[in-house]
Amino acid sequence: MKKVISRMFGDYRVTDMKEFLEASLKSIGLTHQLHHKKILLKPNLVMGKAPHRAVNTHPEVVRAVAELLLDNQCSVSIGDSPGYESTERALKASGIMQVAEDLGLTIVPFNKPVKKRLADNISPYQFFTLGEDPALYGAVVNLPKLKTHGMMGLTLGVKNTFGFIHSLEKARWHLKAGQDRALFASILIDICRLVNPTVTILDGVLAMDRDGPSSGRARRVGVISISTDAFMLDHYIESILGLTSPLPVTRKALEHNLVEEYEVQADAIPEIENFEMPGLTDTDWTMPAFVKRILKKIFVKKPRLRKKLCKSCSVCCKVCPAEAIELVEKYPVFHYDRCIRCYCCQEMCPEGAIFL
Ligand code: SF4
Ligand code: SF4
Repeated sequence: MKKVISRMFGDYRVTDMKEFLEASLKSIGLTHQLHHKKILLKPNLVMGKAPHRAVNTHPEVVRAVAELLLDNQCSVSIGDSPGYESTERALKASGIMQVAEDLGLTIVPFNKPVKKRLADNISPYQFFTLGEDPALYGAVVNLPKLKTHGMMGLTLGVKNTFGFIHSLEKARWHLKAGQDRALFASILIDICRLVNPTVTILDGVLAMDRDGPSSGRARRVGVISISTDAFMLDHYIESILGLTSPLPVTRKALEHNLVEEYEVQADAIPEIENFEMPGLTDTDWTMPAFVKRILKKIFVKKPRLRKKLCKSCSVCCKVCPAEAIELVEKYPVFHYDRCIRCYCCQEMCPEGAIFL
């Protein structure tokens, strides 16, 4: 039976994390598979923000994982496709570049588009353009951050693989899915199955709740979890956060029997109190499409501007897949008739000036 292994950590002490990860890899039978291999680390690197903001995977988690792999004679690369800036810039500001320099990791900018086909897709789509080909590596190590997410509730292991999508293609997938969370969940699941990470290691020591995934509250949850299966890991994390029903990705994974029974190996997980989830409006209503469209416009939360925080950088205009934002007299104006409620603007605003 597959496993999810979890331990509580008070801080990001590298020696403690390495010890835990080494024992866990052994327990899930990956030690041999991760020996002498070419490895790609895929952290959550949504934008260049300092580690205390909990926007990206913490650099010391990257250090612990990379050191362990280097000890195992692996060659280690690291990369992601951030929302609006270069990988290099985001790595520098996140503190991960320092780790890469210290350990001699190869930086991968995720800018070599490659079209890949998934034969047993669950979404209506079979072809996806990735910014880096996972097949070039002996293993992909998926390093998500535990954070809330305006559209999908949480971003965990499965959602983290969306970063493989080549930069401008991300907007195209948002546009295709629109407000349909179930459809977007099926797309995320297909991308995760295409990337097929060998192992997922989630950084939930300093996590983010409220208005995640980039401008929420950084808060200690204290957990690091590891599994060979991102669907199981996500299911487990939702359970320890006390969610009463599965979020869209996990719900869709359960519908398609992608969450098998699994064994949990964890020391006592204390109750995680006051983890504030973003309110999701359930859009899977059963009613005629035209009524649904009208109700969605009314009830699904709109992105709004906190004018005093806005620096008029126009990132929100650039990332909006529906071209529903324009700067008028220096400030963004939302055209809600075109807005598909994907919340990319809220996710990518570097100043936290957009809220739901
Ligand atoms: S809302 Fe944010 S992203 Fe948009 S212009 Fe203002 S600061 Fe930039
Ligand atoms: S305005 Fe924001 S939420 Fe609406 S489509 Fe554009 S990026 Fe998405």
